[in-house]
Amino acid sequence: MSFLSRIVPGYRPFRYVGEKVPCNLCGSRDHSVLGTRDRWFNPLTNVICTHCGLIRVDPMPTDAELDRYYSDHYRLHYQSTMEPTPKTIERGRKGAEARLSFLSKLVKPGGRVLDIGAGGGEFLAEAKRLGYEVEGVEPSVGFARYAERAYGVKVHISPLNKIDFGGRKFDLVHSFHVFEHLRDPLASMKLVHSILVPGGYFFVAVPNMAEKRTPTGMFHFAHVHGFAYESLRMMAEKAGFEWVPSDAQRAAQVFRRLETPNPDWFRFPNHAAELEKKFRESGLLKHLLTADPYRRAWRRLTRKLRERKLQKAA
Ligand SMILES: [Zn+2]
Repeated sequence: MSFLSRIVPGYRPFRYVGEKVPCNLCGSRDHSVLGTRDRWFNPLTNVICTHCGLIRVDPMPTDAELDRYYSDHYRLHYQSTMEPTPKTIERGRKGAEARLSFLSKLVKPGGRVLDIGAGGGEFLAEAKRLGYEVEGVEPSVGFARYAERAYGVKVHISPLNKIDFGGRKFDLVHSFHVFEHLRDPLASMKLVHSILVPGGYFFVAVPNMAEKRTPTGMFHFAHVHGFAYESLRMMAEKAGFEWVPSDAQRAAQVFRRLETPNPDWFRFPNHAAELEKKFRESGLLKHLLTADPYRRAWRRLTRKLRERKLQKAA
């Protein structure tokens, strides 16, 4: 272990070759570099499509390189165990409860729900408790098995496009912080469209790249795509959905399946320029002069203390 990787928890350079790809949302190759380091100062280039504003890692890692990254690096960056901890379970349960409070107004209990990126199954457990018929998709074997064991829910371990749903259609597809990890999120949204009932709902949450933070703080090797509300909505509309107003946060939105995609999905032509400007303006020094990082650190600390209390009580 190098000196840097001992003092910076995520500092672990990952070498890859990748490939040059056009923008996944609009197909343009025009882009502008937003950053050349990730949040732990590992070398990583992120570009913004200057046509639509979708952000991507450039060059784009191949499937094989991503597999290698996940098996060697990912859990080390995030958590050392291969099963959910009491901490992640409690966090997941709270989030699931909050999301289901407005999703249950759109899709009545009894409906069929699919969770893509089910993790340890907290969303599935909450939905099941409310009376939905649930199943999940989760690539991490440890998490998937845990969900099945702990909550008695069905979780598929294979990639979404390899699963045979046996013609089953869903009333709601839920996906929390998954699409930023996908090389071809547009194709996956089209797949979601194909397994929903007519008028079915699609909830998708991604990290919001338009949030005020340090530019490099947003970048992560596994997040091969970066969205803001505008690019998320344009992609969903291109894939055949319409936007539904909801109580969700900005980069967490609800969409409804349309029979025919709206050809006018390119509804935010100024988004790319506006988002790029935002990135250029939010230098590190400027960031440190705002209250934001301190608020975030305080929130993290109080959450940790709460979770420790919970763990002791358990
Ligand atoms: Zn684009």
